[in-house]
Amino acid sequence: MFVTRFAPSPTGLLHLGHAVSALTAARAAEAAGGRFLLRIEDIDRTRCRPEFEEAIYEDLAWLGLEWETPVRRQSEHLDDYGRALRQLIERGLVYRCFKTRAEILDDITRAPHLAPDGPDGPAFIGAPLDPGEERTLLEAGAPFAWRLSIERARAALGARFEDLTIEVESLDGACRETIAADPGMFGDVVLGRKDSGTSYHLASTHDDAAQGVTHVIRGEDLAPAAHLHRLLQALFGWPAPIYRHHPLVTDASGRRLAKRDRAATLRAIREQGERPDALSALARFYRRPQLRSEG
Ligand code: GLU
Repeated sequence: MFVTRFAPSPTGLLHLGHAVSALTAARAAEAAGGRFLLRIEDIDRTRCRPEFEEAIYEDLAWLGLEWETPVRRQSEHLDDYGRALRQLIERGLVYRCFKTRAEILDDITRAPHLAPDGPDGPAFIGAPLDPGEERTLLEAGAPFAWRLSIERARAALGARFEDLTIEVESLDGACRETIAADPGMFGDVVLGRKDSGTSYHLASTHDDAAQGVTHVIRGEDLAPAAHLHRLLQALFGWPAPIYRHHPLVTDASGRRLAKRDRAATLRAIREQGERPDALSALARFYRRPQLRSEG
């Protein structure tokens, strides 16, 4: 059974790009006679707000979408992500990292040859502290994140690490391609954040497996994430979904939309009297729609 999902984070109002994502996924489920799930990715308690979650339901209903209930809210499953992280801790695949963001950047700049070329620039590769030093910091209550050790993940998977592949489909599902995964490109990524104890990568991959998602359909900005997610699936023995990535909606200057672009929010579009079926048509036929610039 074909299962896909739309997984927004309630950190702002949804914009046209989210509409394209949600409609693309929902249409794909419809075409395949499958299921369309909505998942609220609200692990970041400082940025997520209940009114944005309410707005998600309102905006998606306005678009004419229907989704299964109850909706999975990640904030209600922190224990599940904690258990998954615990497995990695027990297997020695993650380590405590006490560094601040500034220290991480500094390390990358000082040793660029160690940094793999990540999707957002050079990525960090670190190492566990020696036990004595770590104990002192823990006793002092120093905050830390859990980072995946790419080196240990590679050792754990052996030859499978290099052989990992990703199944990628065209948006209509007519063509499928197998591409080689580059699971190390994010470096030693944070899987347990200092604040929430989990991370987008861990929670999202966990939930795709828990919810039986067969097709991950999302914007091409998240295409690199599939490489890391493939690694997590292999480490946990979770099934590997098929990926479809849609082009991003940009503004007139070619810049991708962000939640701060008030004019492109679904709420603003609705308030201007736009009809939702116009957006549906856009999602069906669009390649790279250009929004008129505000100025
Ligand atoms: N929650 C993520 C976001 O809003 C999307 C996650 C996903 O589709 O994998 O960007």
